[in-house]
Amino acid sequence: MTQTAPTTPARADDGQRRFASLDPRTGEIIAHHPVASEADVREAVRVARDAAAFWAELGFDGRRARLDAWRRLLVKRLDEFQALISAETGKSADDARTELALVIDHLHWAAKHASKVLGKRKVSSGMLMYNHAATLEYRPLGVVGVIGPWNYPAFTPMGSIAYALAAGNTVVFKPSEYTPGVGVFLGSTFAEVVPEFPVLQVVTGFGETGAALCTSGVDKLAFTGSTPTGKKIMAACAATLTPVLLECGGKDPMIVAEDADVRAAAEGAVWGGIFNAGQTCAGVERVYVADAVYDEFIALVTEKAGKLRPGGEATADFGPITMPKQVEIIQSHVADALERGGRAVVGGLESIRPPYVEPVVLVDVPADSTASTEETFGPTLVVNRVADADEGVRQANSLAYGLGATVFSRNRGEELADKLRCGMVAVNAVLAYASVPGLPFGGVGDSGFGRIHGDDGLREFTYAHSVTRKRFGALLNPMTYDRGSRTIRRVLRLVRFLYGR
Ligand code: NAD
Repeated sequence: MTQTAPTTPARADDGQRRFASLDPRTGEIIAHHPVASEADVREAVRVARDAAAFWAELGFDGRRARLDAWRRLLVKRLDEFQALISAETGKSADDARTELALVIDHLHWAAKHASKVLGKRKVSSGMLMYNHAATLEYRPLGVVGVIGPWNYPAFTPMGSIAYALAAGNTVVFKPSEYTPGVGVFLGSTFAEVVPEFPVLQVVTGFGETGAALCTSGVDKLAFTGSTPTGKKIMAACAATLTPVLLECGGKDPMIVAEDADVRAAAEGAVWGGIFNAGQTCAGVERVYVADAVYDEFIALVTEKAGKLRPGGEATADFGPITMPKQVEIIQSHVADALERGGRAVVGGLESIRPPYVEPVVLVDVPADSTASTEETFGPTLVVNRVADADEGVRQANSLAYGLGATVFSRNRGEELADKLRCGMVAVNAVLAYASVPGLPFGGVGDSGFGRIHGDDGLREFTYAHSVTRKRFGALLNPMTYDRGSRTIRRVLRLVRFLYGR
């Protein structure tokens, strides 16, 4: 392994169109990967289209058998996979293991439930169409393009990949340039259980490779990444009317109500804000604490967060900032909060020592500071005092982002959750919804649209195919030129009787 800096994936200058994947803890090169060109991407999609018929024809049971075999293989090679995720992202061994546990649970769920959720079923044909049988099935779209981020390089793209495959699609996956090896590992392990056709292919490269996937003729593009890139993806896909699923950024709030278990809330805020170095789309970034419990909450958060230390060793509390340019954003948010009257009760600007950032807890931060309004993506928490939980809800709902949220309250948890404008809420725990495979995951507003996970996550990669079959002639048939005006009068009489009361 060679030493190199800075820790940004480098384009090789040897004219071979390859780039290096680097360990953000050390700057060491882990491996080189090809930069897939537009022609490479088009070819991958063409081949994927050929493979689509094979994969679709396997049916739900056949696909489930292969996906179950893949799951078992991933479990068998879990240590190797964890080490690769830790090497490419710098995340601690336990953060990587937690990610993989979720990957495997979701893969199991998608394979098991696809048949029930998507398979052909009868639908009631209604009073007016009683002489017809109606059936519905959800069919695969064909080839799905998946573009992934680096922060959960296995879990986030697998929210699309596993569900798209279970639904009968083939997939071309463009992993982040920071974590290409994780993508390649997914592709090569899958090929061991599906050797016949390239049902899951991986194309590595930078943003240009992703852009090429958008215009390559895929039948849907599933993107997970930042909001600005999501907008570019949607614009690129518009040219060919390619449908998009956008899982974008967030600035997720936590509300600590007057009746909260304050100790549990403090523990949740510290973990939800700091694990994976705060590089979690649905991590806790802003905390609104009811006046009655604010002092106790701050004392506990200060004590807990103050003890945590980042590092490169496997047992570190959390790892480095994976993407070097993110350090500048973290620094600018902390500086903005402090310049506008905020205070740091844990850490401060001196906590930022690339590639590591120690925990920073900011209080009294103005609502219009970038630390309060923009995604920081670092191990920082902005904690503000509010009169009560309802004021917390108002502040939580004040941004264009709407990914996830957390509520801590003994008696009002679900009531407060219902008032939050976002895709998912965890009550009295953090991020619990992401670990429930049956629950859809996704946001509103600037956090994107469409859903991964759950029934919705399977349907996201299908189109509804509806069929009616006439079983016998009806007494009243208004859909023929032989109907006569009496027929229409009778139909209207029936409509008035059935629906007008
Ligand atoms: P990013 O937007 O920089 O990159 C994401 C992917 O898009 C990468 O693979 C990149 O190569 C590719 N890309 C870049 N420009 C492109 C273009 N013009 N056309 C096509 N593809 C292009 O995001 P990131 O830094 O990798 O990931 C962090 C972001 O992802 C954060 O904002 C985080 O909140 C978000 N995220 C969201 C979720 C979610 O489920 N909502 C999950 C994880 C991460």
